[in-house]
Amino acid sequence: MRDPASRPFVVGTGIAGLYVALRCRELGLRPTLITKSRLEEATTRYAQGGIAAAIGPDDSPALHLKDTIRAGAGLVDPAAAKALCYEAPARIADLVRYGVPFDTVEGQIASGREAAHSRARILHAGGDATGLSIEETLKRRVLDAGIEVRERTALRRLKSGGRPGTVAVISGEDGRNVEETDAGPVVLATGGAGSLYRQSSNPSVATGEGVAIAFRAGALLTDMEFIQFHPTVFWREGAPRFLITEAVRGEGAVLRNEAGERFLVGQHRDAELAPRDVVSRAVDREIHRTGHPCVYLDATGIPRDRFFARFPSVCRFLATYGLDPSRDWIPVTPVAHYMIGGVTTDLEGRSTLRGLYACGEVASTGVHGANRLASNSLLEGLVFGERVARQLVHPVAAQPARPERVVRLDWPSGAGRDRVPGAVDRVRDILWDDVGIVRSGGGLRSALEELGELARSTEPGRATEIPGPVANAVLTASLIARSALTRTESRGAHFRSDFPKRRPAWLLHIGLERKESPGRPG
Ligand SMILES: Cc1cc2nc3c(=O)[nH]c(=O)nc-3n(C[C@H](O)[C@H](O)[C@H](O)COP(=O)(O)OP(=O)(O)OC[C@H]3O[C@@H](n4cnc5c(N)ncnc54)[C@H](O)[C@@H]3O)c2cc1C
Repeated sequence: MRDPASRPFVVGTGIAGLYVALRCRELGLRPTLITKSRLEEATTRYAQGGIAAAIGPDDSPALHLKDTIRAGAGLVDPAAAKALCYEAPARIADLVRYGVPFDTVEGQIASGREAAHSRARILHAGGDATGLSIEETLKRRVLDAGIEVRERTALRRLKSGGRPGTVAVISGEDGRNVEETDAGPVVLATGGAGSLYRQSSNPSVATGEGVAIAFRAGALLTDMEFIQFHPTVFWREGAPRFLITEAVRGEGAVLRNEAGERFLVGQHRDAELAPRDVVSRAVDREIHRTGHPCVYLDATGIPRDRFFARFPSVCRFLATYGLDPSRDWIPVTPVAHYMIGGVTTDLEGRSTLRGLYACGEVASTGVHGANRLASNSLLEGLVFGERVARQLVHPVAAQPARPERVVRLDWPSGAGRDRVPGAVDRVRDILWDDVGIVRSGGGLRSALEELGELARSTEPGRATEIPGPVANAVLTASLIARSALTRTESRGAHFRSDFPKRRPAWLLHIGLERKESPGRPG
């Protein structure tokens, strides 16, 4: 008879899912990997800047930890961040063992600088193709290891709350061909929700579905109000929102408005290398103030050869628009980039539901606090992926701590019409307009009202019906808006124009849970 506990069901094939599956296999388990698109399609492959790890002679995990805590605006969980920074070198060694071709200088792994890191500790591969190198290397390893992979297969729902022997309801990417499968422990590695915003750096698979699925099953979520916006994504009418990595500013590029002024100087002591939220808001303000649709990244001060060697993908992309960064300023704008919150987990990746784990961007481990430090997210997928894999081999019953404030939500049933025309576009507009870089109570309430309307059409009418991708998108968007409305202050990536200051009373995490959730199973 098959032992379900030895057959984890890993959902998602970005860095977190691929790495968990590989480590599970090495530790003697027989994982199944499912992914809603192609095996290699994940946000991971678009990561450019690199992966943070304190491996240089002038660096240490303690310094990395200090920077991570400082970036997180008071809400970083120190134990989780300590695990992240101290285990980073060992996880990089794993990637090297799997064959990730990190760039080197004189035989040593090279490292670059990024905003809010006090040392050059960003390891990269293929110049600015770090994510692609990692994704392709891990994918090859997964296939070589003979791990069962099911592509174009989406998780849509978990029955029996993720306990071992759980039933996972899966379907084709489009919501058709529904099937139930006996899943064993489930590892959510479904990534973030950036593509639910009209302006986003994320690929279309990043719809935050894992969050909706976990919430419906009764799991606790935390920090959903913290969506990180990236300040420098290529802007041109009709062009794809291609990210111009922060590492470009790390190499010396500066931001200018149309008139050529460096508008960040004087706003923050680190100017263009200030934390992402500061730079994103400054760019957003400048765009609104000037009425010009973008600002400009000026990299003309960086020697041409160095720029082309370090950022070949950026150069290739810009060339298709006739731009040469050694000569031309690059038009940029801020976009939604990273989901800081997600499924609440403890240090071993356990959610509040027995048998349900989460790691990577879908998880809320507490390492990012209110504001992620650049290049810590690929790393988070590895560090907590490793901890999940070990936990699956030697499970210990325990629970993540509950946040200080938990909002328990009713979620209405609807007409079950998942294919309402234009619904996803409407979600994207609502999030960008009212749950974006600058938020207000009025905007958030109107967003929630409209999302509620959409839910009344798209939500299943009966408990036996399976929520489709659109219903899950509406739910995830509502969870972000609900959390943002609850936090009546500005902190890290969350900025409220009606509460523009940080308030000591809000030095806490906000949890979201379904009203009828099973609560705290033993
Ligand atoms: C343009 C860009 C540049 C970035 N640069 C960096 C960087 O330099 N350094 C850094 O640390 N971070 C960077 N990030 C962030 C980082 O890439 C992500 O946080 C990280 O890759 C997330 O990995 P993951 O494995 O958690 O999720 P992903 O890589 O997003 O993978 C999620 C997987 O889950 C699948 N999936 C989703 N829902 C379902 C479902 N319901 N059923 C089945 N499968 C599902 C998806 O298809 C996908 O395979 C960048 C992000 C972007 C968008």
